[in-house]
Amino acid sequence: MLELDFSRGRRPETVLFLGAHCDDIEIGMGATVIRLVERYPETHFVWATLSSDDVRERETRAAAARLLAGAQRSTVLVERFKGSYFPYEGASIKSFFETLKQHGNPDVVFTHYRQDLHQDHRITNELTWNTFRNHCIFEYEIPKYDGDIGIPNVFVPVSRACLTRKIEVLMECFPSQHDKQWFTRDTFEAIARLRGIESNAAEGFAEAFHCRKAVLGL
Ligand SMILES: [Zn+2]
Repeated sequence: MLELDFSRGRRPETVLFLGAHCDDIEIGMGATVIRLVERYPETHFVWATLSSDDVRERETRAAAARLLAGAQRSTVLVERFKGSYFPYEGASIKSFFETLKQHGNPDVVFTHYRQDLHQDHRITNELTWNTFRNHCIFEYEIPKYDGDIGIPNVFVPVSRACLTRKIEVLMECFPSQHDKQWFTRDTFEAIARLRGIESNAAEGFAEAFHCRKAVLGL
């Protein structure tokens, strides 16, 4: 299977994670964050969650701290843009995106999927591509009521232990979400298992991403 070596043989200096809401980065790519930190502990990881309140900020900061444990350098930004209103707050969110450049030029950017039907996720995706014009961008997926799961084309195989760590972080750090019918261990395990099937993952699990374009360096 094709392996994308986005670092061209060197470690990425800076990796940027973008999420509209507290728990998005964690759900979409929590296991990949763990793998990246394990493989590149010296990389600067920049984590930006765009909307929150007091409770949810505490939750996502606790989750980020656990997923980023082992990183020698990390920056966690949790903003207060109003959830569900991103299309109407575009200018101020765009201004925030511009400030992200002061944290280093990211070698890789992870963001929401372009076809995600949640309006906040979609705006986050659009501003990612609008702001980072010469960057390697991977788009993660979030299962939801709207039924917008697509056919991803990039996979990160993860071990059962790594997936278990991710799910423990989700279940332990986000008590405010436990009343949501979809916020359950089996949701997170099910999608990882499906993506594991699609990528022939050795231990059966994977997280999946959409890569809209890539450069083949020959
Ligand atoms: Zn979200």
